[in-house]
Amino acid sequence: MNKSNKMKGPDIDHVLFESGKSIALTYAGDTGKAKNAGKILMEGSAYADHIIMQLEKSRDASSEIACKAGCPYCCSMQISITPPEAIVLGAHVVENYDTGAKNDLLKKIDHNIRLTYKKTQDEKVENWRETPCIFLKGGSCSVYAIRPFVCRSWHSLDVRQCIDSWRSKDKEAEIDSLFHRNYVFGIVRKGVQKGCEMLGLQWETQVVTSAVKSYLAHPNPIEGWLRGERVFKPG
Ligand code: SF4
Repeated sequence: MNKSNKMKGPDIDHVLFESGKSIALTYAGDTGKAKNAGKILMEGSAYADHIIMQLEKSRDASSEIACKAGCPYCCSMQISITPPEAIVLGAHVVENYDTGAKNDLLKKIDHNIRLTYKKTQDEKVENWRETPCIFLKGGSCSVYAIRPFVCRSWHSLDVRQCIDSWRSKDKEAEIDSLFHRNYVFGIVRKGVQKGCEMLGLQWETQVVTSAVKSYLAHPNPIEGWLRGERVFKPG
C-alpha cells in the first residue's frame, strides 16, 4: 500500500521527466566526456532527493521509514539498472576490487545468473534466499553511496511486512511505503533513459548481474557506450 499518492499529475510528471532527460543529455551529450557518464546517476539522484525533500517539507517523513543499515530483506531481489548506473557500479569494481575480489564477484554473478536468467517469477522467488544482490556484504549494501535509482526509491514503513514476505516468499506481499518517493525516482529514471535514447545510446535496463558482467568484459565500456555500442548484454 502506498501512502500520500495525491501528487500524481501531468505537470509534475513532465517536470521530473524533462529534468531526468536533461541530466542525461548534459552528461552524455556531445560535450560529454567518459568521466562524466557516471554523473548521470549522482545528479539524477541528487535532483530526486531535492524534490522529495521539498515534498516532505511539512513532515518528518524519514522518521516513518523503517529501513535501517544492516536490514537486507529487499536486497534479495534481482534489481534492474540503466546503462549510466551500470557504468558507476562497473567503474567502482574496476577501481576498488583486487583480482581476488573481482573473481569472487564474477562467481557470485554467474551463480545468480544461473538461478535467475530466463526463469519464471515464481522460480526466481523460490531461489531468492540463494541469490542476494551481488553487492550485499554482511547484510549491508557495499555500494550504498552509489546505489542505483531503484534502491534509493525503495523503502518500507513496516519491517515486519518485509520479514513476512521474505519468509513466506510471497511475491504479491503488500509493503507499506510512501508513494511519492518511489514515484519521483521512477519518473526521473525514465527521463534519464529517454535522454540516452535521444542520443542514440543504449538505454534499456539490464539485471545488475549481467550489466556489471558486461562492463567488466568490455575493454572500454564507457567509451563504447558513448559511441552507441550495445555494451550491456543480458545473461
Ligand atoms: S545495490 Fe545495495 S541497496 Fe541495491 S539491492 Fe544491491 S545491496 Fe541492496
